[in-house]
Formats: sequence, C-alpha cells, structure tokens
Amino acid sequence: MTNIREQLEARERDTLAPQAAKSAASRGRLRPEPEDEIRPAFQRDRDRIIHCKAFRRLKHKTQVFFRPTGDHYRTRLTHTLEVSQIARTIAKVLRLHEELTEAIALGHDLGHTPFGHAGERVIDSLMPGGFNHYEQSLRIVDVLENDGRGLNLTWEVRDGIAKHSKGKSGAPVGMPPAMRASTIEGQIMRVADLIAYINHDIDDATRAGLLTPDDLPQGPVRVLGASSSARISTLVRDVVTETLAADLSEIRMSEPVLAALLELRTYLFDAVYENSTATVEFKKAADVLTGVWEKVRERSAEFLDRRTIEHEGVDAAARDFVAGMTDRYAVRLFEQFFIPKPWAID
Ligand code: MG
Repeated sequence: MTNIREQLEARERDTLAPQAAKSAASRGRLRPEPEDEIRPAFQRDRDRIIHCKAFRRLKHKTQVFFRPTGDHYRTRLTHTLEVSQIARTIAKVLRLHEELTEAIALGHDLGHTPFGHAGERVIDSLMPGGFNHYEQSLRIVDVLENDGRGLNLTWEVRDGIAKHSKGKSGAPVGMPPAMRASTIEGQIMRVADLIAYINHDIDDATRAGLLTPDDLPQGPVRVLGASSSARISTLVRDVVTETLAADLSEIRMSEPVLAALLELRTYLFDAVYENSTATVEFKKAADVLTGVWEKVRERSAEFLDRRTIEHEGVDAAARDFVAGMTDRYAVRLFEQFFIPKPWAID
C-alpha cells in the first residue's frame, strides 16, 4: 500500500520530462527528517517558504520605488509572485517540476535588504567581506528562520536560490555549467526574474511619470512587442521554443530576443535605476541604514542575536538584523535612535 506522497512521486516519474528534477530523487535535506505523508519534498519546501517570516516581510521591501504612496506599484513581494508565475508557465510547458520551480522563485529574493539595491550596496560597504542578497537568501532558509534552525530545505531548492542572480551585466542564459543552477528548474529563474522585472519596472516607471511608452528604444519594442503582456508572451515563447530545440539540455533564448531584452535592461538602468529623480531618496536611505548599523552594534545586547555574535561576530549579527528589515522598520528604528521624541505630557 503506497501513501499519497508516494503516489504523487510516481505521477512525477510518469508525467514529467526525463530531464526534470524528481522529488523522490532529491539529494536530500541539510538534516535528514521523515518524509511527509501527503506532500513530496519540493512541494513541502514551497510551503515552508510561503509560511516563513522573511516571505511576509517582502511585502514592505522596496522593488524600485521607495515606499510609494500609490497602491499599484510593485513591492518585493509582488515582484516575487510575478517571477513565480512566469517561471511556472515555462516549467509547465517544458514538463519540468512546477513546485520545485515555484519554491526557488518564492525564495529567490528573501535575502533582499530594505531600500532595494541601494540598501544592498550600503550593507555591502559596511560589512567586512561584503554582502549580496542571494547569499543572504540562502542564509535565511538555512539558518535564520525558525529561531536559528532554518527551514531545512532540499539541496535542489537551496542550489536554485543560491544561483539565481546574474547581476547587473550578466546574461540570463549561456553561462558555463559551474555558474548556473544544477537543475534545469533552477536555471529558469534568471530568465523569469529578468522577464518579470524589466516589464513591471517599465510599467511602474510609466506610472511614476519617469517615461512614456514612446520613450522605449524602438528596436527592442519591434522585436518583443509594445505592451508588457505582448513582450512577456514573446519572451516566454522564445525561451520555451529554444529550450525544447536544445532538448532541455539547458535553458536557452534566441540571439535576437535576448539582445532586445538586454537592450531594454540597459535603457532601464539609465532611465530608471540610476536616474537621479528616482534615486534621490535612496541617498537618504544610505544614511538611515548606516546610522541604524552603528547603533545596533553599539547596543548589540539589546538588538542582535547573541548566538550569532558568539559564533560569527557582531558584524554578522548586524548584517542579519539590518538586511532583514523592511523599509518602514528601518525608518522607524532610525527615528527611535536619532529623532528626539516630542514631550508628550501637557
Ligand atoms: Mg528578483
């Protein structure tokens, strides 16, 4: 008699592509633990990420625009959900493992700092040895969640989270094997992340009045389409077609579509990400994080994790605390540290 999980694992073997990862063939968890009776391993990991605290904090972390008052701007949480949707669409068509893909997508940005990439640069400069969000995403799922026990995820999800980022100028496809995720599901993340953020950032920047659709470079618009939905369709179709043509040996894109996508990204860096109007508040964000960083180190017993200080030092403890903050929590703590409270008794 097989239980429900075993039946689902058998269904994976029957229906998924041979190149797809399979839950029952996972390389395992950091610490061995009994399997669930209902859910295969990757599905369980997806659920653990959705239920963790760092996932809920993504709601109040900047994507591009700092604490926008408009309700329709993306946050780090809605970015994550858009990446997950695009990644799952690609996985499903290619008969890859959807829940593994979803788990990696939902976990990929957990380590993002307050104030977006501006915050990441500040912590990188303050932290001896540097900082980047994807290593911190892995630290959150391995160590910080569950009061220091971590989420104990499978190797495949951890590998995908650790290798999702291609940086400002890296390519989303065509990297040497050592620099890409080991599962093909994990490799989807770089293209899905790029497809999601380029399109939603164009939409948000238009909402913010930083650009109009006519300002976009015309070459990429001709290749990809004039609207977000047209561009996403073109891009997803290209990834699927090219990857199938390569017999799922790796995630691929065609040359002209990739070139158009990268040209749009370059345009966005100039027009939005490094635009002085959009980034003026980020200069203040740097002062907020630097101030908070110094104060929590001075008052480490009050604010920082004692075990981390003992085992890894006060810098590591400050990094975990400050990187984990939402935008609004960082601002609130800064006010508490540096802005005198008005006398409140009449
Ligand atoms: Mg992302």
